[in-house]
Amino acid sequence: MSELSEATGADAGGGPLVRRMREFGTTVFATMTKLAVDTGSINLGQGFPDTDGPERMLERAAEAVRGGLNQYPPGPGLPELRQAVSDHRKQWYGLAYDPDGEVLVTVGATEAISAAVLALCEPGDEVVLFEPYYDSYAAAVSLAGAVRRPVTLRVDAGRFTFDPAELEAAIGPRTRAILVNSPHNPTGTVFTREELEAVARVCRERDLIAITDEVYEHLTFDGVEHIPLATLPGMRERTVMISSAGKTFSVTGWKTGWVCGPAPLVAAVQAVKQFLTFTSSAPWQTAVAYALREEMEWVARQRAALEAKRDRLVAGLEEAGFGVLRPSGTYFVQTDIRPLGFEDGLDLAGRLPGLAGVVAIPTQVFYDRPSRGRAYVRFAFCKRDEVIDEAAARLRALRG
Ligand SMILES: *Cc1c(COP(=O)(O)O)cnc(C)c1O
Repeated sequence: MSELSEATGADAGGGPLVRRMREFGTTVFATMTKLAVDTGSINLGQGFPDTDGPERMLERAAEAVRGGLNQYPPGPGLPELRQAVSDHRKQWYGLAYDPDGEVLVTVGATEAISAAVLALCEPGDEVVLFEPYYDSYAAAVSLAGAVRRPVTLRVDAGRFTFDPAELEAAIGPRTRAILVNSPHNPTGTVFTREELEAVARVCRERDLIAITDEVYEHLTFDGVEHIPLATLPGMRERTVMISSAGKTFSVTGWKTGWVCGPAPLVAAVQAVKQFLTFTSSAPWQTAVAYALREEMEWVARQRAALEAKRDRLVAGLEEAGFGVLRPSGTYFVQTDIRPLGFEDGLDLAGRLPGLAGVVAIPTQVFYDRPSRGRAYVRFAFCKRDEVIDEAAARLRALRG
C-alpha cells in the first residue's frame, strides 16, 4: 500500500472505510449466496426459511398498511407490541417487564445488539463473547471502539461447550459486558442451567452486564428447554435480553426485534437506538403483537417441523460421511469434515459447489482464531423437505 493510499484509506482492501471496520469486508453469506446462484447449487448456507410465517399474521401486516398505520410509531415501539412482549416474557419465563420503560422495540435483534453495545461500552472497554459467534457481534464491538475477548466453544461429548475456567480467565479489569447467545448460532448448542450459572456467576462477581441474544428461544429440540439468563439469581437487574420475530415467526425480512431489561439499561439502549433509526416500522409491529398473543400454537408446530428437518438433514449428512454434531436448537447443524478426508472447511466450502452442487458455510469465519474452527462446516436445515432431500442426495457423491 502506498503512503497516499494509507492516508486516504484508498487501498484495495479498505477503500474509504474507517479502520475499525476494515476487517469486516463482505459477509461470508453474501459471498456464499452468490456462489450458490453462480453455480446453480442448493444453498444451505444462509439461515432463512423458504416458507412463510402464519397466514393471519401476514394478513394483519397487509391490513395495517392498507388501514393507514404508515407514519412514525412511538420511539420505544407501538404500545400494543410492548404489552404483548411483556405478557409473553411473563407467561413463558415468569419475568416481569414494565411495557413502559422496560421494553424497547428495535429493527431486528441486530439493531438491538449494536445499540446495546454502543450504549453500554466505552472505547477500550472489553466485551467477552463465545466463538464461534454470530458475525454482527464482532462488528458491533468494533463500532463501539471496544475490544473483544473471545472464549472458545469446544466440542465435548458431541456438543460445543466452554470451560468455565477459560471464561473466568477472559475477564479483566476493563471487562464491561458479556454477549451470550443461546440457543447458539452457529453451533446449535442450547446452554444448560449449569453453563448459564457459570456465566451468571462471573457476571455477579465481576459486576458485568449481560447482553443475551435469544432469537432462537422457541426453536429447541428433543424437549431441551431454553433458559433465559435473566431468570438466574441476580441476573434480571444486569441483563439486556434481546429477541426478535424473525426466527420465531419465520419472517426474517421483517426486522422486528425487542429489548427487555431494567429501566436504566433499556433507557441507555434507547438513547442510541433513537439516533440509529429513531423508531421501527409500524405495520410489522402490530402484526407481531397479534402473533405473540395468538400464534404460539403455530410456533409449536413450526418447532416440531424444524426438528423433523434437523433429523432429515442429519441423516443425509451422516450418510454422506460427515461427522455430525446433532444440534439441540436453531436452524443449523455443524459437521466435522475430517471423516471425509478433508482438513480445511474454508477449502471444502469453496469446492463443495463443484463436488456436490451444495453451498455451506465454513465455520472458521465465525472465530477470532479461525484455526480452532478449521475442521467444521455449517449447514442450514430451515428449508423445504424436498430441498433437504436433494441436497442430501447430492452430498452422497462425496463418498466417492
Ligand atoms: C438471525 C440472527 C439475528 C438477527 O436477527 P434479526 O432480528 O434479523 O436482526 C441475531 N442473532 C442471531 C444469533 C441470529 O441467528
